[in-house]
Amino acid sequence: MTQTLKILVAVILLSFTGCKISYKANSGKNGKDGDLGKSKTNTFTKKPIASSFFIDSTEVKKHLYTLASDDMQGRKSGTEGIEKAAKYIETEFKRIGLTTFDNLETYRQTFSFTPRNSKEQITSANIIGVLEGTSKKEEYVIISAHYDHLGIKKNGEGDLIYNGANDDASGVTGVLALADYFKKKGNERTIVFVAFTAEEMGLIGSTHFGKGIDASKFVAGINLEMIGKSPSFGPNTAWLTGFERSNFGKIVQQNLVGSGYQLFPDPYKNFNLFFRSDNASLARLGVPSHTFSTTAIDVDKDYHQVSDEATTLNMTIITQTIQAVAKGTESIINGKDTPSRVVLAEKK
Ligand SMILES: [Zn+2]
Repeated sequence: MTQTLKILVAVILLSFTGCKISYKANSGKNGKDGDLGKSKTNTFTKKPIASSFFIDSTEVKKHLYTLASDDMQGRKSGTEGIEKAAKYIETEFKRIGLTTFDNLETYRQTFSFTPRNSKEQITSANIIGVLEGTSKKEEYVIISAHYDHLGIKKNGEGDLIYNGANDDASGVTGVLALADYFKKKGNERTIVFVAFTAEEMGLIGSTHFGKGIDASKFVAGINLEMIGKSPSFGPNTAWLTGFERSNFGKIVQQNLVGSGYQLFPDPYKNFNLFFRSDNASLARLGVPSHTFSTTAIDVDKDYHQVSDEATTLNMTIITQTIQAVAKGTESIINGKDTPSRVVLAEKK
């Protein structure tokens, strides 16, 4: 999530001092690998998502630990560290067999920009791969997460690297795992997988992406942010930003009936999270584009800290959540359901 959010969180926490917050986060269950890898079939079963795995948890762990490693130096846009992350994502897109987007000749959508409060121009790239749909090629679903983070702390001792494991190596891990999954399973609508750059500098990568598309072709946006920590609503749950802004969330809830996994509306209304991640750049264009998360952001001590390390994430939670996103969005990917468009009363 963005720096702006960090400030907002601080303001809200201050204003809430002394008040009771009505929901409580699960705590103390992070960082355990859990019971993984028993089943790696590629078909959905009626068993709860909790007890059967169709996403390869070994791959999930590999993506997460690679992207959040010290070697990537906090993945700040414009640095050598993020370049390593870009190359890793490209290599994975190629291995999976994704094609390039629109008129691009590679997976990179490279552009230059000058961040707010800076005079230095940065050149960076969104990494985009495509799985063409079988029967509805011209209808797109985007699955995205941001691969940039905050880089390296300028002053201090000890660990200075903002690894951004939960924020948002976990989301990019989800994008890669879902690309692998849908490549094998098949998709009626075209899926556009995007790792956005410069989210932390103010949703710059996704804004750039939005400028170059025909938004009417995009039927849904699935954005993943911070999906590796104990959920606010208990085990096997996630929350969705902007739940009431389209019927996307209700479609997902319907698809998850019987799976043992539940989706809830974002409980952190005062944080304005719908507008604080890359889903907003497409939602502003009318696309029903929402962010999935599991993290109790109001109490997460690692948020935008150097302690946001891969070891603090729960591999069972991240794998289950990726599976829930796959199952929950299945009818949209397959062209059976089309969520209502987002209409914003005031442009933000
Ligand atoms: Zn983020």
